[in-house]
Amino acid sequence: MRILALSDEVVDFIYSPHVKDRFGDVDLVIGCGDLPFYYLEFVVTMLNKPVYFVPGNHDARLQHMSDGRMVETAEGCVNLDGRVCRERGLILAGLGGSIRYRADGEHQYSQSEMNRRAGGLSISLWLNHLRDGRALDILVTHSPPRGIHDADDLAHTGFDAFVEMVKIFRPRYLLHGHSHVYRNTDVTRTQLGRTEILNVYPYRVIEWESGWWMT
Ligand SMILES: [Zn+2]
Repeated sequence: MRILALSDEVVDFIYSPHVKDRFGDVDLVIGCGDLPFYYLEFVVTMLNKPVYFVPGNHDARLQHMSDGRMVETAEGCVNLDGRVCRERGLILAGLGGSIRYRADGEHQYSQSEMNRRAGGLSISLWLNHLRDGRALDILVTHSPPRGIHDADDLAHTGFDAFVEMVKIFRPRYLLHGHSHVYRNTDVTRTQLGRTEILNVYPYRVIEWESGWWMT
């Protein structure tokens, strides 16, 4: 199974009539935030595959579309923020937003607010663990975990809660955005326990190996 993960930037060759030539074989699309709804709607329409996303700190709750619609979500896509969902046999959980750096900013949270949001998912995840022998396959976030692919300035500080979730629930992947990559020396892949933490900015294709949780 192939997964196309997106974040933070509209990529010209994805927002193009030729997207199907290059990505027609992906089975699932995951948006890691700061992606306009028109882009997600374009991808779901062109690829006709499930699209799950979390909001980023730059995503307005209401967005203006070119056809005049004001929309609260990307039509045909699933907002995974604060939820646990199953798709194509995978368990996905999502926590969008960034650290709070402006008092009135949307999709911004303090460390303790994100701890609570993460705690809100834990019952579902423990039930998965009891039922399936694994709690979670992919944790989808906008911000990185604290200390991994994050930065020293406030707006790009990662969340402690994500480090804890990786340690406790041990997903195969944590996919995030928010940290823009400017140099090819920037680290975008970090292993923490059995979890691969990937900065997907601005896109990344992931080959999913089935049965990984049995290893
Ligand atoms: Zn961001």
